[in-house]
Amino acid sequence: MRMKDYVAVVTGAGSGIGREIALHFTDEGARIAICDIDMKGAAETQDMIRAKGGEAICVEMNVTDEKAVNDGVDRVAKEWGRIDTLVSNAGIQIVHPIEEFPLADFRKILAIHLDGAFLTTKACVKHMYKQKSGSLIYMGSVHSHEASPLKSAYVAAKHGILGLARVMAKEGGKHGVRANVICPGFVKTPLVEKQIPEQARDLGISEKDVIETIMLGETVDKLFTTVQDVARVAVFLASFESNALTGQSVIVSHGWHMN
Ligand code: NAD
Repeated sequence: MRMKDYVAVVTGAGSGIGREIALHFTDEGARIAICDIDMKGAAETQDMIRAKGGEAICVEMNVTDEKAVNDGVDRVAKEWGRIDTLVSNAGIQIVHPIEEFPLADFRKILAIHLDGAFLTTKACVKHMYKQKSGSLIYMGSVHSHEASPLKSAYVAAKHGILGLARVMAKEGGKHGVRANVICPGFVKTPLVEKQIPEQARDLGISEKDVIETIMLGETVDKLFTTVQDVARVAVFLASFESNALTGQSVIVSHGWHMN
């Protein structure tokens, strides 16, 4: 077990990628705080973790709400005495051409991805700095490195995540805290399922073309990245033991983007 007795705070763990990371962390011996606004999804993840014999608590947390984030993280630290890993993963997607993009939607995406990453980082490092260790893992995207039409808000937010992670690598280094970004290609989760018909409508093409051309067109083998692929990288980053690996982004995308 690579994460025995680690305490992990995983946002957006009630669904998709966050849930799978929580399950992989459980297999490695970690205790999980499942942080989400969807308490039904969070409870399902908790049941899955308990079915594996793992330990998890559900924390109702809107990552854009400073008080909810601080109270939630402090509750986890009080319950289990430490925080070893943050996975800042909660996220949404809204696609529009820029001329039709409502400012409120732009702000919503930036708030969930960037305010959320900032607030959860701030709340967790307080505990990590005291214990002189910790791993901050941010869910970026290939869209932290590439641009796609219709995704002005998402691409701006995911590029921003890289900047935040690099600053945290520099600020956290002397406290034994590492910061890295995982950048997945397209993964079939509810977030992506929703985009397929939306992009087909906005781009005037079929759903099949959205998948084969837009989503997988640049991959080496026309395959989706899986939640398991992403979770394995999260385990690797969470359990890596020194600052040798910090300030990096790891791209898991079937070769869609190559650094
Ligand atoms: P998902 O929709 O399956 O899960 C997202 C989770 O975040 C949900 O449980 C949702 O309730 C939660 N959430 C949303 N807003 C929240 C808020 N304000 N506070 C707390 N929780 C909130 O999506 P997913 O595909 O698993 O996405 C997870 C992350 O991975 C996101 O940051 C996304 O941008 C990123 N990502 C996804 C893909 C992909 O193809 N699916 C690719 C690259 C990056």
